[in-house]
Formats: sequence, C-alpha cells, structure tokens
Amino acid sequence: MYKTIIGLEIHAQLLTKTKAFCSCSAENFEFEPNTNICPICTGQPGTLPVLNEEVVKLAIKAGLILNGSVNKYSRFDRKNYFYPDLPKNYQITQYFHPIVTNGYIKIGDKKVRIRRAHLEEDTAKMLHEGDQISTAQESLIDFNRSGIPLLEIVTEPDIETPFQTRQFMEKLRDLLRYAEISTGDMEKGALRCDANISILDENTGKISKRVEIKNINSFKFVEKALEYEKERLIKSLETEEELIQETRGWDSVKKETFSMRTKEEEMDYRYFPEPDLLPLILTDEFIDTVKKTIPEMPDEKMKRFVTQYNIPEYDAGILSSSKELADYFEKCVEKVKDAKFVSNLIMTDLLRAMKENEDNIENVKIKPEFFSDFKELLDSGKISTKIMKEIFPEVYKTGKSPKEIIKEKGLEQIDDEAELRNIVEQVIRENPDSVEKYKSGKTKLLGFFVGEVMKRTKGKANPQKTNQILKEFLD
Ligand code: ADP
Ligand code: ZN
Ligand code: MG
Repeated sequence: MYKTIIGLEIHAQLLTKTKAFCSCSAENFEFEPNTNICPICTGQPGTLPVLNEEVVKLAIKAGLILNGSVNKYSRFDRKNYFYPDLPKNYQITQYFHPIVTNGYIKIGDKKVRIRRAHLEEDTAKMLHEGDQISTAQESLIDFNRSGIPLLEIVTEPDIETPFQTRQFMEKLRDLLRYAEISTGDMEKGALRCDANISILDENTGKISKRVEIKNINSFKFVEKALEYEKERLIKSLETEEELIQETRGWDSVKKETFSMRTKEEEMDYRYFPEPDLLPLILTDEFIDTVKKTIPEMPDEKMKRFVTQYNIPEYDAGILSSSKELADYFEKCVEKVKDAKFVSNLIMTDLLRAMKENEDNIENVKIKPEFFSDFKELLDSGKISTKIMKEIFPEVYKTGKSPKEIIKEKGLEQIDDEAELRNIVEQVIRENPDSVEKYKSGKTKLLGFFVGEVMKRTKGKANPQKTNQILKEFLD
C-alpha cells in the first residue's frame, strides 16, 4: 500500500488599496506595464519601506478565520537572492516570527493543519520568450506587481490525495473571499500554490523523494499535476530508480510535470531581520477590532440555512459556498417565502444554466422577483412544472419575467373546465375503438387519451383536470 503525502505553500494576494510598503495601487491589472511603480517598489537606493496598516488587518483576519493564533509579536526579515524580478535582491518576508501560527481548515471531517501564515511582498512579473507578449528571444519585466502584499500560508503535510488538495484549495478560496481578504482567483494569479508531494511505501517503510510542483494556476491543474506526480513517484519506488529532490513545473498542454531546478536549502537565502522595519506589535484591542469585521462564514451560514429554511445540508452547503450566491438565495426566499421551492430551482435550473453559460451570480439576469412569478404561476395552475422548466432557459437568457414569457408564447395552461370538456369530448368521439377497449377493461388506455388531449393542446392542458374529466366521460 502506498500513502500519498501532500503539503502546500500558498500565496494569496491581499485585497488592499495600496501595496505593502509604498502608496502605489495594489490593483494588478488595470495599468500598462511599468506605470504603477515608485522608487520604493522598484528598490531604488535610499528609499525606505513603510508598512501598510491594512495589510496587517487582513493578515489578522486570515489568522482568525483559519483558526490560528495571531501573534502579538512578529517581525520582518530579508530573504536574499538575485533574480531580475527582485529589484532589491532581497524580498521582505517574515521568516523567524510569522504573524500567524497553528491554524487548520476542515474539509468534511478531515482536518488539515496550517503551520504558519506570514506576510511578504510579491515580486515583479517576468514575461519570457513564448509568452504571448514577448516574441523574440528575450524576457520582459513588469514591476507593477512588485510590492503587492502577499500572505503565504504553509500547511503541514496532512493532505492525502490530489482530489483532497483541490478541495482544500477551493475551501481556502471560499474562506478568503468571504472575509474579503483576497479574490482567491487562481486563474489571475491572485492565489498561487506550490504543492509538495512524496509517497510512503507502507509495506517497506521506504519513502520516495519529495518533489515540489511550482506555479500551478488553476484548481483543476492542482489535482492533475499531483495525480501525474503521484504516479511518477510510485513508479520510482517500484523500479527503485533514484530520483532527486527537486522543483518541478506543470505543463498544462502536455499534461506532465518537468524539472525546473534542484531545490534550494533554506540556508541559501541568508535570512536576517529587516533593519528598515520595526517589529510588529499588536494589542488585544486591535485584534478585537479586526475580529468584529469578520462576516458570517460559510460553515456557520450553512448551519443557519439548514435550521432556518429547513433545507438539506447538501443544498445548504452549495448555497452557502459563495457569499454572493447565499445572498441571492436569501433575497429570493424573502420574495417567495418558500425556501424549498427557491432552493430546488437554484440548485437545478439556475446553477445548470450558469455553468452552461459560464456566468457567475452577479451577472445573472433572473431577478429574485421572478421566483415569486414562477411560484404564483404554478400555484394558480397557470403553468405546470414541466412548462416552468421549459421556459426557464428563456427567462435566464432574456431577463424577461416568467409572466411575460408565458404570455408571449401563449403557454398558459388550459384550466377552463368547459374548454377541457370540449376537447375531451372530441377525443372520445374520434376514437371509438379505444373507448370500446377501455370499457372492456383495458383501463391502461387512459394514458392514451391523456396523450391525445395533450397533443391537441400542445401540452398545455391541466393534467389533473384532464384526467378527472376523462374518467368521468369514460366510466
Ligand atoms: P523544507 O524546509 O524542505 O522547505 P518544510 O518542512 O518547511 O520543508 O515544508 C515545506 C512544505 O512541504 C510544507 O508545506 C510541508 O507541508 C511540505 N512537506 C514537508 N514534508 C513533506 C513530505 N514528506 N511530503 C510532502 N510534503 C511535505
Ligand atoms: Zn510603489
Ligand atoms: Mg521550509
């Protein structure tokens, strides 16, 4: 039996207005390359960093929602290395005294421990040959990202499968979004993950080399890259091929990992305390003030949904997975007063339509009022559930109300006794053979008659009433 061991080092860009140590904007995308920069974040001689208070608040918030200890004493250190994306030749980080230690995230019953979370600054962005922007054999550099605040979160190697890793990352993203700490957008690089993996052969006690996969930029690729690496490491144990401890990258086109470099040791970085920044000392009052800004988190919300609205835990879990979706759900319930009805319609038709159209809840055209439209139309017998499901995509696409669409398409259910009787009479008159058979005991033919009525009314006849009238005539 092989046991997979996975631990993560995650970088989340913090949602501040300005960068960590200067007053440049922390917005990463709206600027032309190298226009959102200043002497501080480009490491000019003689400049000094000034710590952004908002950065500290967001780190505290993160510490609290990740169930960690927020340390009243933390400090900044220099991590030294030479690379073009690092203008000072060192990165300001927290090595010896991180701001957060000892948290955890639960995925179902599984607890993944978080060893630490510390503050640091982002590097500049390199664009290499083959990237979209650069065509020649050259590399370009954009300093706009340099100095954007990051929270690095390091887990213990508690994760047991590639799939669980993906669940962990998605849960972390949900939490960071909820508390407005980070957008958690992996595709845009606001959340990045380096995954460490090794394999233990439980029979022999032999453990494979540990590999670190860098620069994974989507939730799907986290899982894919680890699946690939898991197989590669198991094979190495089986063939007793010696692998090296190394850092690898994920090629999402070839769907395989490739070697980047042998792993550097911590001591290579010559960490030492940052002399340009004072130790960071927090008071209980300050931590308390931050605590008060934390909104209701997904797990609490889920439990509330179950008790307050009496919906299944599974549904409540999905509805509370994003704050926007949860708010939408509650707005709809306010209008309709039937939480189960709303939850069913969201869980099936709405989420399906959103997925098909790659929309998110913020730009969905179905207004909460439309849910009460649907409910009224159903309750008054004007439409059937089948018709509701049929027109749903149209309502979704056009943003027109269900009532409007029903009218436009002439889909209102035929509910009028006299009109239904007329149609039933016609059907019976035109099918004397079937009537004979029905009377001689083949009562299953009722379905045939219902079908005929539906054909004539293009499915609009009220099914209960149709049944009742047919029976009256036939019996
Ligand atoms: P290093 O000092 O070599 O960087 P750390 O103990 O600091 O190692 O751990 C770095 C990351 O690697 C952490 O996320 C941790 O969970 C993970 N990790 C540690 N040991 C293992 C292992 N045997 N297999 C997989 N991941 C591991
Ligand atoms: Zn700057
Ligand atoms: Mg380490």
